[in-house]
Amino acid sequence: MARPQKMVIVGAGPVGSLAALYAAQRGYQVEVYELRPDLRDPRIVPLNFTKSINLALSERGINAIRHAGLPDLLQDILGACVPMRGRMIHGKKPSGALYQVPQDFDVHGRCNLAMDRGALNARLLDALEDLPNVELFFNHKLTGADFRARKAWIEDRDRLSPSGRPREIEIAFDLMLGADGAHSAVRYHLMKFSRMDYQQEYIDTLWCEFRIDAGKAQTGSGAETWKISPNHLHIWPGKDFMFIAIPSEDGSFTCTLFLPASHFATLEADPSQVPNFFDVNFPGVRDHISDASLIEAFNTNPHLPLISLKCKPYHFGSSGVILGDAAHAMVPFYGQGMNTGMEDVRLLFAILDKHRTQLAETNNPLSDDSDDYDAMEASTAADAAADQAHAQALAEYSATRWVDAHTINDLAFQNYVEMRTSQSTTYKLRKALEEFM
Ligand code: FAD
Repeated sequence: MARPQKMVIVGAGPVGSLAALYAAQRGYQVEVYELRPDLRDPRIVPLNFTKSINLALSERGINAIRHAGLPDLLQDILGACVPMRGRMIHGKKPSGALYQVPQDFDVHGRCNLAMDRGALNARLLDALEDLPNVELFFNHKLTGADFRARKAWIEDRDRLSPSGRPREIEIAFDLMLGADGAHSAVRYHLMKFSRMDYQQEYIDTLWCEFRIDAGKAQTGSGAETWKISPNHLHIWPGKDFMFIAIPSEDGSFTCTLFLPASHFATLEADPSQVPNFFDVNFPGVRDHISDASLIEAFNTNPHLPLISLKCKPYHFGSSGVILGDAAHAMVPFYGQGMNTGMEDVRLLFAILDKHRTQLAETNNPLSDDSDDYDAMEASTAADAAADQAHAQALAEYSATRWVDAHTINDLAFQNYVEMRTSQSTTYKLRKALEEFM
């Protein structure tokens, strides 16, 4: 009887959690290591965020969840999303009157979905917890990996050594998936084994979170309602910057200010200017967020960098591969970072399935029950076959996936460049409308 192959997944963000679901359904013995405490605890926020933000979930990501083969999970996730049928561009006429212009995403009315990143992650983790062949280890940080010996070293932050430092444990794996984000430790260690080309760039824009609270419904029922259309991705385009708002189920919006670092520095020197800055550049926002909240969010929430990175190949031999932001973190102006990471999972497992099936058809050691084949030999042959399938699949994945990943990375980056040179469609539309009105 063949032993199950052990797949270790590093990072329990949206990409790592989805990958663990795919692996579990294929019979792997799955161990997931996540450096933070249980991400479902509402007090735990994603790395580099102050609270969970809303993301645009597009068909690319939905299709990857669909292929996880858990229809209830998909329905549950879709049920927690707010459909966004298009953008809503905000501006101000020369007369001083505010305007908003909708731009549908699709002539057939198809929508992108807005979803709370933490809620999506929690649903994926809940689904994992129900599976008998999955173990989740929170507060466990990968610190080292040897992809030849197939061993990794993990800091167990729940257990301290006598010196007071987190205890280090050694684990073994057949295949490690690195889904540990833009500053991936798996990628760092993989680079020592694989001749990986790597480039990264920080853009000159920082981002900061704001929030439009839910409004009270007019009926006096006490129910909450949205202050602006719930079915749009709201954009206040600027010349070198923009402010966006994405709807939440509870009637609020999570908002993001994208601004060059020098502008942040100017406002940091005198945060009392923040409301005025919004008034000039993002007309109407002050109707929805009080001046005190604008200043508090600007002062309290971090001003975070945006990184764009590309690398290839993504794997080493049959023992390691990186996915999601670990492989291709991109600037967020296309709203495709997480969606592309989820698509990585679907494609990688489709390629693994193909090679496992092909090998099983040509040389079926997994089910060989002939008399001259003892159990030990069968198990060794099964391990070798699994290893061969992994090696072939990872090589094919690396050889093919980078083309699309680099392209979407470039598209996201170009959109940012376009915005900076004031050539963006939304900015030009705003200017044209203002001249026309
Ligand atoms: P992460 O979400 O970064 O998860 C990695 C996990 O690995 C984390 O939980 C981390 O704690 C863990 N980890 C890290 N190091 C270790 C270690 N050494 N050991 C163990 N665990 C470790 N994408 C979209 O698709 N749509 C959007 O609308 C969108 N909007 C965005 C807006 C902003 C402002 C930003 C910044 C990003 C946006 N993105 C969007 C991108 C999206 O957030 C990322 O692409 C996505 O979170 C990547 O998922 P991931 O699982 O690969 O990595």
